[in-house]
Amino acid sequence: MNNKKCLYCEEPILVGRSDKKFCSLSCKDAYNNQKSLRKISDRSSHEKIIHQNYKILRKLCPKGHGTVRKSTVEEMGHNDLAKRCSVP
Ligand SMILES: [Zn+2]
Repeated sequence: MNNKKCLYCEEPILVGRSDKKFCSLSCKDAYNNQKSLRKISDRSSHEKIIHQNYKILRKLCPKGHGTVRKSTVEEMGHNDLAKRCSVP
């Protein structure tokens, strides 16, 4: 018995190839659209963090270069984006 479910609507997939992931073309499109929107949203939030980090560093180093303590930038709200990122 095939217990596979559609990745989008979670209805059972009753017909088709054994590796079929979606019950219909519309579910496949909706799933992929949702996935694309999620990527755009992640990118947008990363851009906000980068902009905020830039503002903090610009405030601490108005000439564009210099050395600051990590604890100082962290206290000002600098976000270590590298800690948040994960490579699939
Ligand atoms: Zn479906």
